[in-house]
Order: sequence, then structure tokens, then C-alpha cells
Amino acid sequence: MSSVDPDPLSRLGVRGLEALVDDDTKKRQISIRHIAPKESINTLKDAFNRHLHYTMAKDRNEASDWHLYMALAHTVKDTLVSRWIRTQQHYYKKDPKRVYYISLEFYMGRTLTNTMVNLDIQPACEGTMRKLGLDMEELENSEEDAGLGNGGLGRLAACLMDSMATLGMAAYGYGIRYDYGIFEQKIKGGWQVEEPDEWLRYGNPWEHARPEFTIPVHYYGNIEHNEQGSKWVNTQVVQAIPYDTPIPGFRNNTVNTMRLWSAKASDSFNLNFFNNGEYLKAVYDRNLAENISRVLYPNDNVFEGRELRLKQEYFLVSASLQDIIRRYKSPKRGGAHGFRNSFSIFSQKVALQLNDTHPSLAIPELMRLLLDENGLAWENAWEIVQNTCAYTNHTILPEALERWSTQLLEKVLPRHLQIIYIINHHFLDDVKQRYPGDEDRVRRMSIVEEEGEKRINMAHLSIVGSHAVNGVARIHSNLLKSKIFKDFYEMYPEKFHNITNGITPRRWLMVCNSSLTKIISNTIGTEWLTNLHFLRNLESFQTEERVIRLIIESKKENKRKLAAYLKQNGNFEVNPNSMFDVHVKRIHEYKRQLLNCLHIITLYNRIKANPDMEVVPRTVIIGGKAAPGYFMAKLIIKLVNNIAQVVNNDESIQDKLKVVFLQNYRVSLAEKVIPAADLSQQISTAGTEASGTGNMKFMLNGALTIGTLDGANVEMREEVGEENFFLFGMNETEVEDARPNYYPKKYYDEDPELKQALDQINNGFFSPEDQGLFRDIYNQLVFSDRYMLLADFRSYIECQKRVDELYCRPREWARVCLLNIAAAGKFSSDRTVTEYASKIWGVDPSDYKLPLPHVVSNDSH
Ligand SMILES: *Cc1c(COP(=O)(O)O)cnc(C)c1O
Repeated sequence: MSSVDPDPLSRLGVRGLEALVDDDTKKRQISIRHIAPKESINTLKDAFNRHLHYTMAKDRNEASDWHLYMALAHTVKDTLVSRWIRTQQHYYKKDPKRVYYISLEFYMGRTLTNTMVNLDIQPACEGTMRKLGLDMEELENSEEDAGLGNGGLGRLAACLMDSMATLGMAAYGYGIRYDYGIFEQKIKGGWQVEEPDEWLRYGNPWEHARPEFTIPVHYYGNIEHNEQGSKWVNTQVVQAIPYDTPIPGFRNNTVNTMRLWSAKASDSFNLNFFNNGEYLKAVYDRNLAENISRVLYPNDNVFEGRELRLKQEYFLVSASLQDIIRRYKSPKRGGAHGFRNSFSIFSQKVALQLNDTHPSLAIPELMRLLLDENGLAWENAWEIVQNTCAYTNHTILPEALERWSTQLLEKVLPRHLQIIYIINHHFLDDVKQRYPGDEDRVRRMSIVEEEGEKRINMAHLSIVGSHAVNGVARIHSNLLKSKIFKDFYEMYPEKFHNITNGITPRRWLMVCNSSLTKIISNTIGTEWLTNLHFLRNLESFQTEERVIRLIIESKKENKRKLAAYLKQNGNFEVNPNSMFDVHVKRIHEYKRQLLNCLHIITLYNRIKANPDMEVVPRTVIIGGKAAPGYFMAKLIIKLVNNIAQVVNNDESIQDKLKVVFLQNYRVSLAEKVIPAADLSQQISTAGTEASGTGNMKFMLNGALTIGTLDGANVEMREEVGEENFFLFGMNETEVEDARPNYYPKKYYDEDPELKQALDQINNGFFSPEDQGLFRDIYNQLVFSDRYMLLADFRSYIECQKRVDELYCRPREWARVCLLNIAAAGKFSSDRTVTEYASKIWGVDPSDYKLPLPHVVSNDSH
């Protein structure tokens, strides 16, 4: 067959689907507001015109899409401000326990559409733009992504911020305002080329500088001992300037704050030069201090022990903790309560969540602030620190675990190193008391590693200094307890928790997939938006032809849109009737993009060997960034592009197989590609992917998953039922059992299709201009294969055959899509945040909820 054409409905265009859905809405008399009241349109129009004129100083005729976007962004932001102020006043008055999410990364993406949706002003804004003859989609695409993250860890922070605001928690995000976010990826000659992401170049309408809350952060210097204790002196000071971004909850009047710090040289910076008359040099050198917040480190799941990164981590932690203590001390301005001078209820009022060990210097820094700046005794301070801090682990890959050299710490943060040594001393005393004579256990558990270069194990420090430690999916949390933190689990079993990750259903369905959103709401109502478990109600519609057809049509519309995007941004034609097989995430060996390559090559070889064979047409879409210093990841990108060259330019392949490398994968592109996916590839080696969140986004958007029993895949399969999930490969136990005697060449020798594919990689079939280009990939796989691709190859190929078989039955495929959507309820970040609140933070937002109902704003001045 040449293409899969489910039914005559597919001939309906985009308008056709719209009409079908709208017709359906009327018939079922479910009110979904998409017509805005006239008066709000007129108010918004006035505000927009005012911003275009006064804020942007532009005439309609000379305004570019970007000017128009800025005018709209300011208009939308105006509707946030009163709620933002009211929310903060409310917290101030009620003084609930504050939750502080501290993260080196917040991968926010774009803000405009999400804000309009959360404030329920999207129809009004769209009506306004239509009235002005403007195309909303073009304005939306003028917004730069806030790319202050690498991948899953940074995007999790962003999803949790949305959910905490939606649940009405008194929550704050603390991070760094990098001048440059994750690099922009270009592909040149098939290779990744990195370009700086100058996201602030044209200004950021969503942030508010708060220079009045500037905070000094100290580095270097030495320690002076006196009767009162230790004192950190002769330091160099950098100023931390806060920039606040409002985080609106979903239609609940709550607007929380994300506070990002920017580094500024202090007035006294390089005073020496200044005094010596080297005024110009002193001014030029201010850059040195300001480099601290210059750029996001582009590593995902790798530790790079650079001094500048250490300074970034401390910069975030020190500025944030000083700010938190300031807020704690002034619960109510003036009045009976006055100034709070005791730390006795600090841990009842403050919860600190550390997103991985990146902010783990919070533990010694809070100790320092309590001991040296506030005069507390050690025991007292230590109890406060432990009761306040909680640590989320994100990976068990050894190369990703932070281990800072004591030499570097001694130079940059001498007082903190001293405090860490004391913490370790007390801790090891406890270990010895608990396990007398067990020298080896003491060595294994030490925060200070003595083998080779002396290092501080930041994960150990985080466990010891926190009251709670959590993994991010069940399998991952169990591995923490049984493998890398086994000793710690035995000593403190009550500290360990699992909190499976989630994603916000607002951005990852409502904002990015409007046709599917309408279909779901027409079918089961709208409660699912704030309680995703309601999606279960879709299950009973699996036999309703009407719903199945709508699911098919919606997916097809999304695929057509993505096809149009690919044509415009890469001049590449794809067939929307082919299966969209999507593998997008950071490029990393453990995520096994190479296994996908082996499948593509196998399909290609089969078609070449048997040109008349029936084939289910596929478009394989691979995207993701490689860390700039990760040689193998960059070579994988080149291989994908070279395979695409060969496959796409082979006349005899026709429409049966196409390969696309999606350039510059990022949040805003994820929002376009995920709704268009038929098949989601989640194929990491079992035991390596802590959770994954991309997997959840695809499931929620009605893609079927081909995946291993790894990360949250395990729980996704449990929720949807094994018959509705394409499982392959070894499980974690099988991987561990196979590893000691693993000999990948055996699979190469015994599987002719695998041998052919690997030989083609090795012998220049995909690199005729440089025959040995991919030899390193071949050698890695055949002679080492740390991630055991060869062991899982045959199982993967067989599983892909089952995928093809189901895709040939479009209605059955769509039914399974519906069941996947119905089973995605567990993976809402609302559920994730609720679990953190009850298991770790001890907060209940219903105690101090802002009054509802939400009123559509009329306060754009
Ligand atoms: C969700 C997301 C990720 C994480 O994807 P995984 O498949 O879980 O690794 C990475 N990048 C972007 C842009 C995302 O939106």
C-alpha cells in the first residue's frame, strides 16, 4: 500500500474539522466560551493601541510583528499586575508557610499564550487582534523562548511553577537570569553549530527589575577566628539584582513570583585599580563579576567542575537565602507582630526544595547565615537547616553527580568548606555509632571523598542536610534506595520518598493542541483542566464512532500544521498521511538515538532488498541538542543527517520512508511537534532515564509509545494497560544481570540485519565523502556498548513491526490513542505538586486560598 487513508473524513480540510467540532458543541449544548464579550474587546483594543503608541512609540503602519507582539504582551501583562499585587498582599497578611523552589534552570518557553489562557482572556485577545486585522499566530511566533534550561530538569521547574500557582500555594521560584540561555542550534553540512541565544536582545516584557532588593554575594577571602567564632573576611563582593516574573495560576486569581538574579559588579569592585589611577581598567573589569550570570551551562546529565559554574551555584543560593531570611523576618510591616527576630519557627514558615544538587550549597550557606550572621549555636542551626531543606535527585548516571574539588572550594568559598567538614565530622560520628567497626561503610558514606583528588560529594551532603530525599519516578526512587544511596536508606529510611514527575496540562494540551482540547471538553466537560484524572471518563467513548473520527481528524490537522512548518523552516516536504514517528529530547547515548538509527537503516535495507514489499509509510522525526563538548552526541546528529541524505534522496524509496532532523528543538517547537506525533520514542536503556517528561507530553496528546521499562514509562504502561503500550527490550534487572558478561559483538555476529546496518555505518555507506567518519560509533557499539543497544535491537525491530500492524487499522489505532489520553491523568504536575505539599513541605493551600470567583479583568488602565 502507498498510504494509510483512514476514511473519507480525511478529505475535510482544517475548516472542515472546525465546523465538525463547532457543530458538535452546539448539538451537545456544552458551553465553551470562544466568543468574547464586546466590551472586553473594546477595552483591550484601547490598551493595545495605547501600548503600541506610548510604550513602543510606533505607528501602526511602521510596526513590525515584533512591535505588535510587544504591544499585546504589555496589554496582557497589565491584566496580571493587580492580581499579582493582591496575591502578594494576601500572602503577607496570612503569612502561610512559603515554598521556595530553587533551581539553576527554569525552561519556561514562551509566555504570551499561556498567560492569556490562564487569565481566560484568549478569546477576547483573539477577537481584538481579528478586529485590528492582525494574525495572532504570527504575533505569538515573534516571542523569544525563555530558554533558561537544558531539558527535562528545567522544564519540570517550569511545570511545577504553573501547578503551584494553580493550586494557590504561596510558592516562589528562585533562579538565575542568564543573559544567554541554551544555545541556538543550527545544522550546517549535517553538523550541529551553536549560536548564542540572545533572548534579551529586544527586551523582555514579562520581567520587572527590583533593584531595591539588591543583595551582596561574597567570594574568595579567608577566615578569621575570634572569641565569637569564625569570620569570613577580605571577600570580593558581587551584587545580585532581582528580576521578577509573574506566574499566573489557571483562572484562580493567584499570581506568584519567579525571582531570577542578575550579577552586577559592586561599586567597590576593583577599588585597587581605581586608587592607582587605572580608572578605565577598573571599569572594564566589572565584566569579570558580571560574567557570573552571563550564560547557562549547556550540559544535560553531565557534571563539569568549572569555577564559574561553582560561582553561579553559590550566587543563586546565597542571594536567595538572604532574600528568604529578609522576608521571614518581616512577616507583617509594623503592627503588633513587628520584626521577627527569632528563628524558632523558621522551618514552619519556610520550605526549600533543591532541584538536584545544583543548589546544594544552600545547606552550608544557610548554616553560615545562621551561625555567623545571626549568632545561632551549631545544633540549633543544624536542626533548622535539616527541617527546611529537601532534595530531589534527577539522575543516577555517575558522570552527572556533582563532586566539587576541595581545592576549588577552599579558594572560592573557604568558610563553606570548613562548615562542610564539620557537618561531615558530626555525620560520620553518627555512622560510627550506628555501625561500630564498619570502616568501609564510613568511607562509602563520607561527604568528603579521599580517593584521588579530594572532593565533596554533593549528593551525600544533600541527603545529610535534608529531611526529605525524593526520586522522580517509582523505578528511579527504588534504584536510589537499592543502589546509589543504599547505605543512606538503611540509616534513614524515613527520609526517602518517590514523587513521580508530571507536566502541566494547560501548556501541554490546552495551549498547544486546541482541536484536541475542544474534542475532550465537548465529550466529558472541562473539569479535566484542573483535575486531570477526569480524563478517565473518555474511556467509555472508545466505541463511539463520532469521537474516534474526531480524534483521527484532530491528529491529521496537527500533522498538516507541522508539515507546513517543516516546509517553511527547512524547505522539507513530508506526507501527513505517513506515520509521524517522533524522537525528540536531548541527544545522549543513554537515550539511544542510535537504536532508532539502526531501525531506520534496517527499514531502508528491507525496502531496497524487496522493492515490492508492502510498507507502512513513515516519517521519522529526530530532534535535540547535543552538549557542545560531547563529541559522540554531535557525531550522532551528523549520522542522523547523513542517513536522511541517503534515504530521502533515494528515488526507489519514494514516500515509504523519510527522515527529518528537527533543528533547534526547544519548548516552543515541542509545542508544535508533540501534538502531531503518532508514535513517541522513549527507548532509553532500562534503569538510566530517571523519569522523562517528554513521554508524558506525547501520551497526553494521543501518541502511542514505543518504549522500555524505564523511568515513568513503567507507570504510564501501568495506567494505560500493557495491551496499549509498545514494550520492548530488557528490564532493569535483566540489564544488570547481563552486564558482567556482556559481549555486544555476539549480537553483531549472529544477527545479519544488525550486522549489515553496523557495517554500513562503519564502511562509509552514509559518509561517502569521509569513509571513516562514523567508525567511532561502530567501535563503541560493537566492542563496548555501555547502553546495550545491540542486546535490545531485535526486540525493538519486532516491536516496530507490531506498531506498523496497528497503524494499518486506523480506527483501532485511534481507539488506543483515546485510551492513552484517558490514562494520562496521573501525569499532571498538579498531582506532583500536591504530593510534594503533603509528603515534604507540609503545606495545605486550602488554609489560605484567595477568594474566587475569577473575574475577567477590566483593569488595563
Ligand atoms: C519536555 C522537554 C524535554 C524533556 O524530554 P525528555 O524526553 O523527558 O528527555 C526536553 N526538552 C524540551 C524542550 C522539553 O519540552
